[in-house]
Amino acid sequence: MLMEEYRKEIADYGRQLLDRGLTEGTSGNLSIYDPQAGTMAISPSGLPYPEVEPEDVVVMDLQGNIIEGKRKPSSEFGLHSAVYRVRKDVQAVLHAHSMYCTTLACMRSPLLPVHYAIAEAGIKEIPLVRYETFGTLALAKAVEETAPRCRAMLLANHGMLACAGSMKEAFSLAQTMEWCAQVQWRCMCAGGPRVLTSEEMDGAIARYKTYGQDGPGKRSGYFG
Ligand code: 13P
Ligand code: ZN
Repeated sequence: MLMEEYRKEIADYGRQLLDRGLTEGTSGNLSIYDPQAGTMAISPSGLPYPEVEPEDVVVMDLQGNIIEGKRKPSSEFGLHSAVYRVRKDVQAVLHAHSMYCTTLACMRSPLLPVHYAIAEAGIKEIPLVRYETFGTLALAKAVEETAPRCRAMLLANHGMLACAGSMKEAFSLAQTMEWCAQVQWRCMCAGGPRVLTSEEMDGAIARYKTYGQDGPGKRSGYFG
C-alpha cells in the first residue's frame, strides 16, 4: 500500500478530530504530503471518521489524479493541493469546522491577537479567506492567494485551516486556534477585547521559537 504510514496517520488523526471536539460529523478533512513522491494522502469524502481505515485514505498527486485508493477523495483536495504548491514548509493540512473558529469566520472576523498564543502560527493575526463554495476550485484559488503569507486561516462562513510541517504540529495549531477563537468570542460578548500591539506580538512570536524542551519531542505549542 502506497504511503501506508501517512494513511494510518490520517485515519488516526481523523478520530482525534472528533474526540477533541474540533469538528463534527463528516465535516473537515486531513492530508499529509510527501514532497519526494509528489503525492498526498487525503481523507475520503463524507465517510464518518470512526469508520476510516488506512485503505480508505486516498493517494493523489497535486494535479488532482488519484494514484491509489478505492474511495472518492475529500471534496477539498484542490484546496489541500494549493497549499502544498505554494508552501514548501508545509507537509500536513488540517481543515475543520471547529465551533469557535467557524463562529468568527461567520462574523467575517479574522482571529485577532487577543491572546498571545496565536503567535504559534508565526503571525500576528489569522486572516480570513474570502467566501467561495466548498469543494470548488474557486475556494482552492482563494486559499492559494492567502497561504503564501500565513499557514493558518479562517475560511469565511465555513471553518478553519491549519497547515504545518507535520500532522502533529498542524493538530496542535488547530487546537490553539480554536482555544484563541473561543477567548476572542467570549471577549466580544463581554464588551470587546483589548488587542495586543504589533510589538507585543513580536515578543510572543520570538518566545515561541525557544519554547519547551530542545531536541526530539520539541513542542510547537501548548497542545503538542
Ligand atoms: P469532505 O467530506 O468531502 O472532505 O468535505 C467536508 C468539508 O468540510 C467540506 O469543506
Ligand atoms: Zn469544510
